[in-house]
Amino acid sequence: LTAYLNGRFAPLGDLSVPVLDRGFLFGDGIYEMIPVYNRTPFRLNEHLGRLAASLASVRIGNPHTLAEWRGIIETIVARQPFDDQSIYLQVTRGAAYPRNHAFPPEPTTPTVFAFADPLTPPPTQLVQTGIAAVTQADVRWLRCDIKAISLLANVLARQSAVDAGVAETVLLRDGKLIEGSASNIFVVKDGVILAPPPSNLMLTGITYDLVLELADRHGLPHQVRDITEAELRGAGEVWLTSSSKEVLAIVTLDGAPVGNGAPGPIYKAMYQHYQVFKAGVMRT
Ligand code: PMP
Repeated sequence: LTAYLNGRFAPLGDLSVPVLDRGFLFGDGIYEMIPVYNRTPFRLNEHLGRLAASLASVRIGNPHTLAEWRGIIETIVARQPFDDQSIYLQVTRGAAYPRNHAFPPEPTTPTVFAFADPLTPPPTQLVQTGIAAVTQADVRWLRCDIKAISLLANVLARQSAVDAGVAETVLLRDGKLIEGSASNIFVVKDGVILAPPPSNLMLTGITYDLVLELADRHGLPHQVRDITEAELRGAGEVWLTSSSKEVLAIVTLDGAPVGNGAPGPIYKAMYQHYQVFKAGVMRT
């Protein structure tokens, strides 16, 4: 599996990062995950735009032009033995000594790492049955809009889901729906798709944006506004979105059925629109 580190393509197992890397010491870096279908990166410009925004938010200079990023991704994609891939990109502030929280006085060279995993879109069975989720208080910081590699709270939230034998943990803050541990959450109320408004409290998913775009394009009523915990629990449908999970119906929340406990009609319509859109941009 060919990966990339600081200008060099090599087998993933041959690559390593110095222990003084600030990504390792402080979680001082950002990342991106780009799905690739049939060797075609999906929503690439949007992902590279978010990568640039994350870098700017943490004051790491973007180490590459858009063309260079595209080149790195293209090479990695071409060198994998599988067609559907999940490309992980990470940029940290680099290595510095002595260890100090503040930025190193001498500018460091950012560490740039990329590799590919095989991507398996959710199987039809999961799409048809839906998934279960639990809820939890959101104890993360107030800059969840940055796709930072410091993910300890997200790690613990996702582990709670695993411990509960469900697929995701839905995070609530001050009585409002925020997002999942690694996904965005939509609800359907009285036939209207509701999405929490982008803010510093959540990561605006590339999939989140696409789902709203598809709702627009296909005339599905939708509204971006605060969603209360009561609205979440009383929703007719709840969906999860992410680049790897696409759009999945959450049919059980904290053990209680969502709506009638099966993926709803608006979910099924959106899933279909998503698949058609995906097929339309894939290289054949
Ligand atoms: N929120 C969080 C916290 C996430 O980690 C993710 C997935 N990276 C998302 C939302 C969904 O983002 P995307 O649709 O871009 O994958």
